[in-house]
Amino acid sequence: RKVLTTITAAALALGLAACGGGDGGSDGDKGTVGVAMPTKSSERWIADGNNIKKQLEAKGYKVDLQYAEDDIPTQVSQVENMVTKGVDVLVVAAIDGTALGDVLETAESQDIPVISYDRLIRDTKAVDYYSTFDNFQVGVQQATSLVEGLKAKGKGPYNVELFGGSPDDNNATFFWDGAMSVLDPLMKSGEIVIPSGQTDFDQAAILRWDPATAQKRMEDILTKTYASKKVQGVLSPYDGLSLGIIAALKGNGYTTADLPVVTGQDAEVQSVKSINAGEQYSTIFKDTRELAKVTVDMIVAVGEGKEPEVNDTETYDNGEKVVPSYLLDPVVVTKDDVTKVLVDSDYYTADEIK
Ligand code: BGC
Repeated sequence: RKVLTTITAAALALGLAACGGGDGGSDGDKGTVGVAMPTKSSERWIADGNNIKKQLEAKGYKVDLQYAEDDIPTQVSQVENMVTKGVDVLVVAAIDGTALGDVLETAESQDIPVISYDRLIRDTKAVDYYSTFDNFQVGVQQATSLVEGLKAKGKGPYNVELFGGSPDDNNATFFWDGAMSVLDPLMKSGEIVIPSGQTDFDQAAILRWDPATAQKRMEDILTKTYASKKVQGVLSPYDGLSLGIIAALKGNGYTTADLPVVTGQDAEVQSVKSINAGEQYSTIFKDTRELAKVTVDMIVAVGEGKEPEVNDTETYDNGEKVVPSYLLDPVVVTKDDVTKVLVDSDYYTADEIK
């Protein structure tokens, strides 16, 4: 098996070798990397794109970076164009993880290596490597911080509502399953109650991670279920949703002092400000500089005919194959850690998040 993998890596290198890859300099002649990102409507993806571009250009690659504003056909045609132009490597953060099979199979037939970025591309063999964070752990951390925040407020049982991510994003069920591994026992013991009764992922999922949809769902739940109750905690898988949820709560009369414990993800500026202001309770910081670095290392290795470093070869079965993955560690951030985690690491300046 080891030999086979090496041969695959060598075969993948063919495309880059033709473009002068492999000498380690920054001569601008390493070939072109096509980078397809989902949307500019969330800062994290802007940071991801910028970090990859900067790091690749510093190593002498050209970069074709495209955003698809969360529109699936747009992303498919962007990747098609990259393949037609003959990029040497593809890096794709999919909008719908199942929509890219055909175009990636064309890429594979032209020996263009494909790296699945952050989100797993599903249902095709035409994906070579996966760079991401430990997505199950993200969910564990979200739920753990939710429970900590609840306990700090007083004794249970606690009224909690659950939100999930976009059902076409493979990460969403990993986040959910990780969170449920912490919350399920507490729901069974009665320590956590879900007054809306909406405890299935399908009921909680927010298509395309859309903040307005989350806001609307929170409003509906408040109207239908909370006439004479208060929500004490909300599991939210992404900062954009958290802001929508908090807006719904405030619109319903909650004040900064009695907002529930609301989680999040991505440490986006507005949410970090909200955490500093004592509104959102926590977020999960995923350092996009590190994810870009892991991805760039994969691209360089493939270009040199070497096997990229991976640290997980079991978890990410995309329905057609288990994709060799590099998982980074996510980090929980509450008000107390903002400076240490986000400012001391130079991710933000103190002014940006004031
Ligand atoms: C990413 C999260 C992000 C979400 C919404 C997920 O695939 O892993 O970091 O919050 O998409 O953009």
